[in-house]
Amino acid sequence: MLRLFCLFTLLFVASAQAEVRVLTSIKPLQLIAAAVQDGIGSPDVLLPPGASPHHYALRPSDVRRVRDADLLYWIGPDMEAFLPRVLGSRDKPQVAVQDLPGMTLRHFGDSHSHDEHEHDEHDHGHEHASDDLGHDHDHRPGSLDAHLWLAADNAKVIAARMAADLAKLDAANAARYAANLQAFEARLDVLDGRIRPQLAALQGKPYFVFHEAFDYFEAAYGLKHAGVFSVLTEVQPGARHVAAMRKTLQQTGPSCVFSEPPLRPRLAETLSAGLPVKLAELDALGGTLPVNATGYEQLLENLAGGLSECLNSL
Ligand SMILES: [Zn+2]
Repeated sequence: MLRLFCLFTLLFVASAQAEVRVLTSIKPLQLIAAAVQDGIGSPDVLLPPGASPHHYALRPSDVRRVRDADLLYWIGPDMEAFLPRVLGSRDKPQVAVQDLPGMTLRHFGDSHSHDEHEHDEHDHGHEHASDDLGHDHDHRPGSLDAHLWLAADNAKVIAARMAADLAKLDAANAARYAANLQAFEARLDVLDGRIRPQLAALQGKPYFVFHEAFDYFEAAYGLKHAGVFSVLTEVQPGARHVAAMRKTLQQTGPSCVFSEPPLRPRLAETLSAGLPVKLAELDALGGTLPVNATGYEQLLENLAGGLSECLNSL
């Protein structure tokens, strides 16, 4: 009996001390989890660097990781369409963060600054709704814009849920998770105060994107891209389409065209040749950032920095 009791105690202590295995679908969610788990554990991520969440095929090792993680966070079926079919293999908690109460959700086409020209560009994009990274997901007006992590307020909602889930599974560290959450929220407020004036100075400076991923960030800071250039992966865009995109750039005058690392669409050079257009990058996924408590802030800061650096040089 005593031996049994000892065994039970040992098992209990071992499981109480084992790190909670957090798995997130994409890097930005991993960075938010890293802030909440700071000093306690390291979250894992499903997608390798450079992979597009819109167009990913799970490997067998991914399926095992999905099954085994204690907590799983993903955006939702509009972003990681590859995930729902393997979620049935899990008997532990999983959270589609798009469903969390308190989330601010946008839909493509949500904007007060839409004008005719932009609609043209938008519609054009949908005949060719894909780029070199395989971004062929649904960006039709009215559909959910699932790039919701680029609003700091949404990151706070996600972090709060992670802190609550972690405290439940790892009660011994509950106070630390709560403190980490509070510190994360406070740092985001400081960051907001820093980049808000920086971005306010960019209003009205025209820029274009290849993938409509930044609307949450833009909406938070009163910015709006002048248009979206979307192109098919394998098929060269038709000459008329290219000519129309070049005409838009020409009429706009000096502008920035942002692509996303790691790949710059081949079209970027063709479009901008001979025009007063600067090519630059914005990374919505924070692909190269180290995974630590301040990684998520760095992601936002890099977006602000990338926008200002290019737009201020026009
Ligand atoms: Zn996208």
